[in-house]
Amino acid sequence: MSHFLDHAATMPMRQVAVDAWVEHAQALNPGSQYRSGRAARSVLDDARETIAGLLGAEPVEVIFTASGTEADNLAVTGLYEASPLTRIITTPIEHPAVLETVRATGAQVDHLPVDATGHVCDLSLLDTPAAVATCMWANNETGAIQPVAEFAARATAAGTPTHVDAVQVVGRLPVDFHALGATTLAASAHKFGGPRGAGLLLARRSPAPVPVLHGGGQERGIRPGTLDVASAAAIAAALTEAVAEIDSEAARLAALRDRLREGILTRIDDVVVHTAEPALPGHLHLSFPGAEGDSLIMLLDQQGVEASTGSACSSGVNRASDVLLAAGVSDHDARGAVRFTLGRETTDDTVDAVLGVLPDVVARARAAGMAG
Ligand code: PLP
Repeated sequence: MSHFLDHAATMPMRQVAVDAWVEHAQALNPGSQYRSGRAARSVLDDARETIAGLLGAEPVEVIFTASGTEADNLAVTGLYEASPLTRIITTPIEHPAVLETVRATGAQVDHLPVDATGHVCDLSLLDTPAAVATCMWANNETGAIQPVAEFAARATAAGTPTHVDAVQVVGRLPVDFHALGATTLAASAHKFGGPRGAGLLLARRSPAPVPVLHGGGQERGIRPGTLDVASAAAIAAALTEAVAEIDSEAARLAALRDRLREGILTRIDDVVVHTAEPALPGHLHLSFPGAEGDSLIMLLDQQGVEASTGSACSSGVNRASDVLLAAGVSDHDARGAVRFTLGRETTDDTVDAVLGVLPDVVARARAAGMAG
C-alpha cells in the first residue's frame, strides 16, 4: 500500500465530484436553445451560482477554464493587453503558469522581494502603476501564505489591476473574492478534489481581461468554447464539500504536519525546514543537505511513500528550485528538497509510515551523494 503525500500536486477526486460528474456526463451543449440545451444550461447555472456563493463572487464573475494554468494565462495576458502600460509587477516565487506567462508578454518586469521565510516582504514597488500586478496566495512548494489582501489594496490604490493565483488556496482556506479586492483570481479543481483538466477564473466586470482565445463568445468572451457541464457540476460538488471541511481539516492537518516535522527533526540530523508560518496547514517542505531531492523521491517511492521535490519546473531535472533560491537557500541545500503535502486521507498511520522509512532513505541518499 502506498501513502500519497503529494496533495499540493493533485488529489484524488472526491466521491461527490465523481457522482456529479457521472450524473451529468451526457449533458449536451448548454448554449443550445432547445430543451436538452436548456437542461444542460440549468445544471451549468446552478454550478456557477454555487461556486460564486462559496468564493464570494457574483455568478457572472465565474469563468470556467480547462486548468489553473489556463486561468492564469487568460488573466495575466488579458489584463496586460487591456492596458496601455508595459510594466508588470510580480514575485520571484510564482508557479510557471504565471512566471512563464509574464515572461511571454515581453513586459518590463519588477519583482516584489521575498524574505528568508519565503514570504513577500516589501510591497512598495506597487505604488507606481503597472499594467498588471500578480501574486500567488500561497506558494506551491513551501506553502507560504502571501500578504495578498495588502498586495491587492496597495496596487489598487495606484490604479493597477491585480491577479491572484489562488490555486493552492481554494478549498484549503476561506476565499472571499470581493473582500480580497483582486481583479482576477485563478483556481484549479483537481487541487480540491474536483476533476483534473478543469479550472476557474474569477474576473470582475471591470477592468476585464481582453480575450486571449477567440471564438463563440462563451464565458463573456474571455474563455470561448463549448462548456463542460459535467466538470462544472463536479467542481461545484467538490468545492461545496471542501469548503465545509476547511476548519476541521486545517486543524487536523496542521497537527499531523507538526508531528511529522518534529518526528523528522528528532530522527535525522542536519535538516533545513523551508515551510514557515503563515503557511498552508498541510505543507511541509524541507531539505536534507548532502542528498539529491530526486534520489530521496525515488527511494521513498520504493518504500511506498509518494512525495515530490515540490518544484514544478525542476522535477526530474536535478536542479535547485528557483523558489528556494529566491528565499536565499543555498544551491547545495535546495537540491536536497522534499515536499510532503498532507490531505484528506492522511492519518497518523501515514505519518508513522514516513517516519519509519525516512531516516534510512536519507542515509542512503546521502551516501549516494550529489550528482555533480
Ligand atoms: N498555480 C499554482 C500555484 C499551482 O500550484 C498550480 C499547479 O500545480 C498551477 C497554478 C497550475 O494548475 P493546473 O494544474 O490546474 O494547470
